[in-house]
Amino acid sequence: MPDTLNTLREACHFINGVYTVGTSGRTFDDISPVTGRKIGIVHEALKPEVDAAVAAARAALHGPWGKMTQAERSDMLHAVADEINRRFDDFLEAECLDTGKPRSLASHIDIPRGAANFKVFADLVKNVPTESFMLDTPDGTGALNYGVRKPKGVIAVISPWNLPLLLMTWKVGPALASGNTVVVKPSEETPLTTTLLGEVMNAVGVPKGVYNVVHGFGPDSAGAYLTEHPGVDAITFTGETQTGEVITRAAAKGLRQVSMECGGKNAGIVFADCDIDKAVEGTMRSAFANCGQVCFGTERVYVERPIFEEFVARMKAGAEGLKLGAPEAADTTMGPLISNGHKEKVLSYYKLAEEEGATIVTGGGSPDMGELNGGAWVQPTIWTGLTDDARVIREEIFGPCCHIAPFDSEDEVIARANDTKYGLVTAIWTEDLSRAHRVARQIDVGIVWVNSWFLRDLRTAFGGAKASGIGREGGVHGLEFYSELSNVCVKL
Ligand code: NAD
Repeated sequence: MPDTLNTLREACHFINGVYTVGTSGRTFDDISPVTGRKIGIVHEALKPEVDAAVAAARAALHGPWGKMTQAERSDMLHAVADEINRRFDDFLEAECLDTGKPRSLASHIDIPRGAANFKVFADLVKNVPTESFMLDTPDGTGALNYGVRKPKGVIAVISPWNLPLLLMTWKVGPALASGNTVVVKPSEETPLTTTLLGEVMNAVGVPKGVYNVVHGFGPDSAGAYLTEHPGVDAITFTGETQTGEVITRAAAKGLRQVSMECGGKNAGIVFADCDIDKAVEGTMRSAFANCGQVCFGTERVYVERPIFEEFVARMKAGAEGLKLGAPEAADTTMGPLISNGHKEKVLSYYKLAEEEGATIVTGGGSPDMGELNGGAWVQPTIWTGLTDDARVIREEIFGPCCHIAPFDSEDEVIARANDTKYGLVTAIWTEDLSRAHRVARQIDVGIVWVNSWFLRDLRTAFGGAKASGIGREGGVHGLEFYSELSNVCVKL
């Protein structure tokens, strides 16, 4: 096992099938969230590198990639998935180095799902019908209308740091399955797996220029240059709502289409008739998995009053039973936050919760991690006692924390769950089937889970309502974004 904490890496751009440092001469450090120490350097792309990547992607549309049949492209994407799985350990090491997440988590979620995203969309795209209509015409001959799906062109993929490989391939998979080419700008915090995927693309013979990577930040850096680039036909983004607004403004020039998967302040709703073991287990995961850095995370938990005290006590025991540690330690159940910058943000909310009058059930600060103290460690934290107008209840924290509040009626909890500018997901816990359906329909979110959390079927629609996003990806919905539908009308 290599000493992952000391492995120095260099993340280059991947343009036209070749790793390159570009010409900007600018680099930044890749910092381990586990130790706070440097683990590598990343080359920053400015305008020339972005221009080169977009030009390569544009040219590739007209090369061998553009001439392949759908079946050939799908076979190639299956090969990409197989190669990711063959190099599973390399991807696992890179993802854990960048994020500090437990290996047990990344090996069950991030890497397998990263590979699956290629297979699922490669298969799906072959099986999606297009519409056809026969039009009666006054002369009696009629006209046949049928739809044709074509690639949209060059897709800019802007991805976040919380599930780097999974969320990036969630976009690259359907984009390539639909015949597009991509330029990916991964988060500056997590450049490694996106970079490594270039090796996979070359290994299985994906034509040059189909998959390109540029590294850097948002404003005045790779992100802004890419999203403002006139050679980009559509932009798919996952990240904060505020960033989504900036990117949507950039996309307005030239009326480029956007797909926005943004922030959330998700509610968990626990009725007294739930299976409390399952509700506690699911809510624990929804609050603390990936150190709370999951867009689906439940930071607002509403529990029906008869089981409120018991639920809080069991969540407290669960949170205090989490084992914070380095990714490779077999007993680690929670890693650090992504960075010390994010730690400062999360700790500022821990402080704010106290100022707003919260009762701290557990946590509320940073733990003593000994020789890892330079890392971005915070305690899993539970609060009670805040009113619904508290900022801690209204703003996305994106850390391992939740507030638990009692409620007394179904109508009340529906209104409180909906009282947010966001609309990403909700988890409802109840054994009453009618209630589950009734409540699910009334919550203004893109995804409702009943008696589960983060149970994903990649064929289903995925996306947020309100400030949580624009559009839906997943299944045929993703293909709608990643392809241009033309109607052909044939007068008979
Ligand atoms: P972020 O918005 O800070 O960054 C996301 C990406 O956008 C990064 O690659 C960043 O470099 C880039 N970026 C930043 N400013 C830019 C600009 N002006 N132009 C172009 N690119 C720019 O988000 P983050 O901190 O990486 O991720 C956490 C956020 O992502 C949370 O709000 C979380 O809820 C959200 N998220 C949403 C989903 C979802 O599916 N809805 C999934 C995961 C994360």
